[in-house]
Amino acid sequence: MEITFLGTSSGVPTRSRNVSSVAIRLPQRAEVWLFDCGEGTQHQLLRSDLKSSQIRRIFVTHMHGDHIFGLMGLIASCGLAGNAQPIDIYGPPALKDYLKACEKYSYTRIFHRVKVHPIAPGMVYEDDEFSVSCDRLTHAVPAHGYRIAEKDRPGRFNVEKAKALNIPSGPLYGQLKQGKTVKLEDGRTLRGTEFCSPPEMGRKVAYCTDTVFCDAAVNLAQDADVLIHESTFAHQDSNLAFERKHSTSTMAAQVALLAQVKQLIMTHFSPRYAPGNPIQIRDLLAEAQAIFPNTRLAKDFLTYEIPRRRDTASTTQVIAGKS
Ligand SMILES: [Zn+2]
Ligand SMILES: [Zn+2]
Repeated sequence: MEITFLGTSSGVPTRSRNVSSVAIRLPQRAEVWLFDCGEGTQHQLLRSDLKSSQIRRIFVTHMHGDHIFGLMGLIASCGLAGNAQPIDIYGPPALKDYLKACEKYSYTRIFHRVKVHPIAPGMVYEDDEFSVSCDRLTHAVPAHGYRIAEKDRPGRFNVEKAKALNIPSGPLYGQLKQGKTVKLEDGRTLRGTEFCSPPEMGRKVAYCTDTVFCDAAVNLAQDADVLIHESTFAHQDSNLAFERKHSTSTMAAQVALLAQVKQLIMTHFSPRYAPGNPIQIRDLLAEAQAIFPNTRLAKDFLTYEIPRRRDTASTTQVIAGKS
């Protein structure tokens, strides 16, 4: 699982940051899932290593323009490019009406390839490998955060060891794979756990934006490998955060701390902290790290590979980050 930030500014784009969008690449199935799709997301995709043709699902948090104005353009371009792959879009109930209106007034057919699913707190999507659930955040308009969870995988069965011990293949292998203890006809007793590597815990990502500090974000992020949380404001501007229902750096860090996540990545920064302002985005990092040290700042095109749980300690790393 690999996360790429395509837009990290709140409200409006700046010279170095586009508005919200995060891509999660699932290499094992050559799919990309998008979370939010601010204006210009398709241009950001062209500048990234991701392929628009691999976009299979889009999850939308809320109806503010900086999270949805890029949807129509992206979907239309995918259609013109002849991408046969259908796209499932998940978001607030109003999203379907919005896209229907875009389709109608721009004479651009999209609904033969696109299916829009209205979301409500709970499970949003599930297959054999992944589940995506959502919960209601606390924002100026209805907004939902998402939790993407990879399912745990059983450990690998050591066939070579079984063969070397002359264990007859067939149903016995199945029982050992399940970790059961079996008794052979020749009197030997074998424990399944001795033939399997430890199970691999599925990775978990939480995406919480836009919101002021809320318990729902803590629940969504519980024990996550990565929490992506908005940090529109610096701690000093917390009055603005409460007023506009956004988070400060310290709120994001508190969510990470309470949820005991492994890594916090902050995003959705107010353009006010541009060079020249007495407070800058790196100050937001210092504020958050005082509460939750394992915090980093997102920037556009930052790519972060989530290591498998077995080797978490050694391989957490950023694999690319164009400026
Ligand atoms: Zn926003
Ligand atoms: Zn918003």
